Amino acid sequence: MSLPASILKDTFGYDSYRPLQREVIENVLARRDTLAVMPTGGGKSLCYQIPALMFDGLTVVISPLIALMKDQVEQLRAFGVPSLFLNSSLSPQEYQENMEYVKRGEVKLLYVAPETLLAPRILALLDSVKVDCLTIDEAHCISEWGHDFRPEYRQLIEVRKRFPKAVCMALTATATSRVRQDIRASLKFATTNEFVASFNRDNLFIEVAKKSDPTLQAVKMLDRYKDQSGIIYCFSRKQVDELAAYLLSKGYSVRPYHAGLEDAQRARNQEAFIRDDVQIIVATIAFGMGINKPNVRFVIHFDLPKSIEGYYQEIGRAGRDGLPAHCLLLYSYGDVAKLNYFIEQKEGEEKRVAVQHLNAIVRYAEDETTCRRKPLLDYFGESYQADNCSSCDNCTSAPAELVDITVFAQKFLSCVKRADEKFGAGHIVDILLGSKNEKIIRWEHEKLSTYGIGKELTKKQWMHLARQLLMTGYLSQEGEYHTLSLTAKAIEALKKRGVIFGVIQEAERVRKDGKKKEDVEYNQELFGLLRQKRKDLADVAGVPPYVIFSDRTLVEISTYYPQSMESLLKISGVGQVKLRQYGDPFLEIITQFCEKNNLKEYVHPLTVPQQNRLPSSRSKRVGAEEIGERTRVIADAYNAGATIQSLMELYHVVQGTILEHLTKYILAGNTLRNGDDLKEMSAASVEQQKTAFAAFDELSPALLKPVFEKLNGTLNYDQLRTLRLLYLISRQS
Ligand code: ADP
Ligand code: ZN
Repeated sequence: MSLPASILKDTFGYDSYRPLQREVIENVLARRDTLAVMPTGGGKSLCYQIPALMFDGLTVVISPLIALMKDQVEQLRAFGVPSLFLNSSLSPQEYQENMEYVKRGEVKLLYVAPETLLAPRILALLDSVKVDCLTIDEAHCISEWGHDFRPEYRQLIEVRKRFPKAVCMALTATATSRVRQDIRASLKFATTNEFVASFNRDNLFIEVAKKSDPTLQAVKMLDRYKDQSGIIYCFSRKQVDELAAYLLSKGYSVRPYHAGLEDAQRARNQEAFIRDDVQIIVATIAFGMGINKPNVRFVIHFDLPKSIEGYYQEIGRAGRDGLPAHCLLLYSYGDVAKLNYFIEQKEGEEKRVAVQHLNAIVRYAEDETTCRRKPLLDYFGESYQADNCSSCDNCTSAPAELVDITVFAQKFLSCVKRADEKFGAGHIVDILLGSKNEKIIRWEHEKLSTYGIGKELTKKQWMHLARQLLMTGYLSQEGEYHTLSLTAKAIEALKKRGVIFGVIQEAERVRKDGKKKEDVEYNQELFGLLRQKRKDLADVAGVPPYVIFSDRTLVEISTYYPQSMESLLKISGVGQVKLRQYGDPFLEIITQFCEKNNLKEYVHPLTVPQQNRLPSSRSKRVGAEEIGERTRVIADAYNAGATIQSLMELYHVVQGTILEHLTKYILAGNTLRNGDDLKEMSAASVEQQKTAFAAFDELSPALLKPVFEKLNGTLNYDQLRTLRLLYLISRQS
């Protein structure tokens, strides 16, 4: 293992790099000035923290926000990295002490605000030690083109000259090429030393829903993510206060946040959220800057945001830890009118830009077919290629399913006939529904044999069915009253009782449950216990809970049930120092829980895990009685000889969906035929297949992510899904 990789594991407890982290780190270690552009949550910090641990001298990190410095230093210390900050929040004595530490070379990372760095005594301090790296965080602040220009940042150019031997690193999440160019030009970086990561955040489920009953819609999300952290963005302070008060009255753990609150109150509310004392923040867009909380599980836009840029930044605050998170935008045309009203008060260029921004977000919100990631990433100059991201509403909304509608069609057609082909669809539906309206009585239609025989569908559904019968040529329509009559095709169908296929409309647009395919399954009860322990430890240490362990770490523990120090070390986010510090209290909980529930450790089993050795949450969930109808139908068709390709076409779904169904089927203890198409589809060499099978042996086929990481991403998820199925088929008894 190379040194940086061993620091990644031993100190930070991570098994693999996030995209571009390795490249950036290597470039910095080669002492080339580097610009790294990564989205929020992309893992920028590690890009300078790992080199900092390898240099013998000091790494100075310039950061504009005091709150963020404190947060970073707390996190680093928990990992056992000697680091501190110098800023105005320190008492004169603390300040002096910190300077002494730096002077004595006892610190690897020093965080400072730009104005602090410019102070003569700090420059003198740094002259007296060896500075190996100068890191400029939030580097877009250097650019007048950015959204957050700070004049102090421009003076950093001089500071950079003062330490010519230090390698310089600039980090930002602002992707526009103009800002990037500006940063490079100001700091004299070569273009070859620029690394721009994709801005796609694939753990975010992105959804836009019609705003029908926004409070209820928000409450539904809160209930779905019970006890988890989330942010609700509202347009106005008034709305924030009202919604927060309402939710509070309903017993939710919630606080408001907006510029109208007193500073102290605002700070308290934010702190409570960060420390998991409060789960939900209802806020205006004033909230979010300078917040590093990684375990935000959902972001709701209660009102329409003003621009795509702002929207993307806001949803970016969800799921920084890489675990699935849900972003819901509630959209109504009323909101557009409201925003337009405000825009009308503006003038000139400002007005023009605001209109453009609004139009773009409206187009985005109204689009019900394109993958949400396409327009979003487009906006940042990145083209998103995948056909189906499988984690946005448009990619996962269920395609209308063709079903046998013969009985409904017969009822409708014969009712048209019984009413002498003299009426429009509305009246026919009234008869079917058994309405007692005046027109029915006048025509004595309550005496028809078809009166009231259609109560199983709603009026809306019957009308939709009528339109289908018209479109498919069973009915024709004439005259100003849209009178319906039967066609020859309908008469034939009624006589022969042939099967008619169609769609029965759902009351609302049907969506799959919005769960990502990679949704991690874990033991929620254990997770809850670990979380409580984490909170207790955090309160004692006076730090936010995520400083102790991330949610991701707790989720992995609740999946694999590690019961020794050695196994615990294999969990993501557990480095040597954290193991020593927190290993015991957490192990105690895990072992007790496992003993009580008769659960075995689930790490690196040497033999093939049988179905019953899968993590319990998984095996419980896919118990035989729980396979859905769809799964059974698809598996039966596959066993009868249908190919994966034909099933994809038949159900209008992507390959991964069919593979999921088949996997579920086999995991529930059923047998599947060994199809040749699977092998071809995996597009893996014999060698790769062997490696993958070995990884499934070692890590279990229950979760793909560990296997993906173990293979260093050499096989993609679709390939792994295919190989997992082949693996399971090969293990069938
Ligand atoms: P950014 O500054 O780009 O928004 P951070 O540096 O704060 O992102 O990282 C976001 C989260 O991801 C942090 O909780 C961090 O510990 C975690 N993280 C970073 N790199 C990795 C990695 N290679 N593997 C797992 N987690 C990582
Ligand atoms: Zn999509």
